[in-house]
Amino acid sequence: MLESQRPNPFAMAQEQLDQAAAILQLDPSLHTFLREPMREMHVTIPLRMDDGSMRIYRGYRVQYNTARGPAKGGIRFHSAETVDTVRALAAWMTWKTAVVDIPLGGGKGGVVCNPKELSPSELERLSRGYIRAIGGFVGPEIDVPAPDVYTTPQIMAWMLDEYENMVRHHAPGVITGKPLIMGGSQGRFESTARGGIIVLREAAKQLGTALCGKTMAIQGYGNAGQHAHRIASGECETRVLAVSDSKGGIYSARGLDYAAVSAHKAATGSVRDFPGADNITNEELLTLDVDVLVPAALEGVITKANADQVKAKIVAELANGPTTPEADAILFDKGVYVLPDFLCNAGGVVVSYFEMVQNASAYYWTPEEVGQRLEAKMTTAYDAVHEMAQRHHVNNRVGAYLISVQRVAEAVRMRGWA
Ligand code: GLU
Repeated sequence: MLESQRPNPFAMAQEQLDQAAAILQLDPSLHTFLREPMREMHVTIPLRMDDGSMRIYRGYRVQYNTARGPAKGGIRFHSAETVDTVRALAAWMTWKTAVVDIPLGGGKGGVVCNPKELSPSELERLSRGYIRAIGGFVGPEIDVPAPDVYTTPQIMAWMLDEYENMVRHHAPGVITGKPLIMGGSQGRFESTARGGIIVLREAAKQLGTALCGKTMAIQGYGNAGQHAHRIASGECETRVLAVSDSKGGIYSARGLDYAAVSAHKAATGSVRDFPGADNITNEELLTLDVDVLVPAALEGVITKANADQVKAKIVAELANGPTTPEADAILFDKGVYVLPDFLCNAGGVVVSYFEMVQNASAYYWTPEEVGQRLEAKMTTAYDAVHEMAQRHHVNNRVGAYLISVQRVAEAVRMRGWA
């Protein structure tokens, strides 16, 4: 798809909010307040390359809304990053923390770069440079970043170290998704996928079926996509027929073995050309005849151009913003049951919140404690969204918005901001 034809994610996020505001008959000043970010930073980051030359990078941090708590959300390193993408993702974080009812607001950050072209030491200097640029405006009680597309626990460790150098004391709660040794939480790395699978399991139950024996296609093979493959094909006995990454996808009617595919990706840099599977395109993956489609890559992939060809009965959005509002309407009319992004992928931020709680008390939980608490948060949120959607005869995304917008709007109103 040409860059100019891609939907503007922030326009999408505003349109989704407008729909919910209309149903809620939201006070116009509250609605206007919630349509825009509260604060954003645009920073310029100089980077000394290994060969001695200098390059200048653009970075953003958007604190969309902090009525319910400190801003919270990841940092993306991506060459197609724009400030509107970061705004949209920060808005979705606001609705995400609200739908799972954790005391945090929404934020997001991004650096326009291609991390695959940087050496490890260049990546470290860029990560530290970004935190130096925004460090005066983040903190455990202000804004707490985390990993997102192409950022890793190692990058979180460099960023934490740089921040602690700035403030001259330990402050593990300034960033989540850290390595365990630096105060990370058990279960954080798989938590986005784990939360999504919990929601999917509850949805299947609601639809009178079970995940076991179902077929699945996963678009995107980063943290969320890979763990989803592992958990779905292992614990849930779901047959994963297709997976893809930025270079393309693979399909096997017998199902793809997680350990073998991830080893192939680690060795070759892509899932493509996996022995015994057929190569397919990312576009083809989205319209495969499977029970469950899991978009786990980037925003704006299910659009009005391909939504009517989606054959899955359930779409579980592990990515942020994969479905445009027009596509949403088409899927709803077709009877496709969509588990919206800010519910389905909230497991990541839920365990990030658990990480913050553990950092604040300097007392760490077992994997079982994390798992049980995540389970409780996700099932409660799913039940509330499903119930709200049924009550208003709307899709699950609008149902989720109704819950979140009400919660955030109430906090904004109580504070007297609008
Ligand atoms: N980047 C993840 C998301 O989009 C996690 C955010 C966080 O843990 O703060 O939900």
